[in-house]
Amino acid sequence: MKKIILDYKKCARCGLCANVCPEVFGWDSKSSEPFLKNGSKKERGTASAETDEPCAEEAARLCPVAAIEIVNPKKK
Ligand code: SF4
Repeated sequence: MKKIILDYKKCARCGLCANVCPEVFGWDSKSSEPFLKNGSKKERGTASAETDEPCAEEAARLCPVAAIEIVNPKKK
């Protein structure tokens, strides 16, 4: 499992991650910002989740402001 961390302080609210990887990222239309499905709630400006979805890395790579960090990429 990889851990992904979403940094709301960097996030530009572009919605790309929710489009690229809807399995992991949702879009909160009330606050106009992404959230992590099956992840922690936004707390102190970040949220985190664990996932095996390859598209999470794609979203991290494509995020225009590098607000998505992948840590501990462990191979199974
Ligand atoms: S792609 Fe990056 S900047 Fe855009 S909503 Fe997702 S985390 Fe925020």
